Amino acid sequence: MAKRDYYQVLGVPRTASEEEIRKAYRQLARKHHPDVNTANPKAAEERFKELSEAYEVLADRTKRERYDAMGHAGVEGEFGPQGFTWQNFTHAGDLEDLLGSSPFFREWFQAPGGLGGVFGGSTRRDSRIPFRGGDVEVAVRLPLSAAVTGATRVLDVPRTGPCPECRGTGAKGGTAFEKCPECDGRGQIRRSQTRGYTQLISIMECLTCRGTGRRIREVCPTCGGAGAQRTIRHVEVTIPPGIEDGTLLRLAQQGEGSLNDGLSGDLFVQVQLEPMPGFHREGQDAFTEALTPLALALLGGEVRVRTLTGEAILKVPPGTQPGAQFRLRGEGFPRLRGTSRGDLIVTVDVELPRTLTSHQKELLREALGPPPSPGTVPKKGGLFGRRS
Ligand SMILES: [Zn+2]
Ligand SMILES: [Zn+2]
Repeated sequence: MAKRDYYQVLGVPRTASEEEIRKAYRQLARKHHPDVNTANPKAAEERFKELSEAYEVLADRTKRERYDAMGHAGVEGEFGPQGFTWQNFTHAGDLEDLLGSSPFFREWFQAPGGLGGVFGGSTRRDSRIPFRGGDVEVAVRLPLSAAVTGATRVLDVPRTGPCPECRGTGAKGGTAFEKCPECDGRGQIRRSQTRGYTQLISIMECLTCRGTGRRIREVCPTCGGAGAQRTIRHVEVTIPPGIEDGTLLRLAQQGEGSLNDGLSGDLFVQVQLEPMPGFHREGQDAFTEALTPLALALLGGEVRVRTLTGEAILKVPPGTQPGAQFRLRGEGFPRLRGTSRGDLIVTVDVELPRTLTSHQKELLREALGPPPSPGTVPKKGGLFGRRS
């Protein structure tokens, strides 16, 4: 269902003052009060919630500014994944006089995700306060090439979330409750003592129902009354190019679920890159080695080299020396969320033949002259001379 414009919901112009917005909200809240609209309380509740969401945004200057600028998309982040819930409502104080005595709202108070714990003046301290779910960290091992290409993996993530059968309440069907007999549904125990002329009244949270005012009549058969369920979820994770060994990716709200409508925790994925034999990394650049036969090093030519993701052809000039370094541009690692790529730096080693036939020896002597005697410094510029 498309969301209605907040100003329309409250029936105020876009230029309405804070006071006009507050007035409109209170008026409509009274009109759509579920205690009054007993014919269709569910619809009344929905309408009431819609009003409250609109008020929550428009009564807050920064939220209103963002909504004015970007519409619903501008304030979506304020609420949890289910959108606006009563946990997001911070203006309950504005309604206390309206709601305090309502039996309907007593129900609401105690419902999961209800208003309990939201009202400033409420003494109910119970598990309804929306605790955020825990964070989960998992590791994923990837080949080094994933740092170039990126990768997608489906991870098994353990998650404790509310039991779907009872919606986290622990009671069968989420409704099998009865009034706590200890406190008669009040959630508090009130004791008065008379000492002399003074009457002492103490109010304590009911220990039997822990302040909720109700107890489970029939236990949820799925979770045994715990309200929680442990599951393994398959979460697809996209690992972007440019990651490094140890990079921690955060997936918002993919961690442990909250048992009472709070936000889920986050999922942290630690990326471990497997070393690739023959390669090492320095920032965006990669380093490797290649072997070239003597003739190719002497005469120049093309050498096939392994890259991070396949192969490439490296052109070496005539007279290539052992240990010479060449740069293959753009064959290194990409920058995380960038477009440029580092280089692959190839150190070339020259493979010398171990044995020669007598004919080959003869030809070599002819071409290069006799080997220099010990201690003679080779002439610069000769075939064996150093390139400067
Ligand atoms: Zn009780
Ligand atoms: Zn259950």
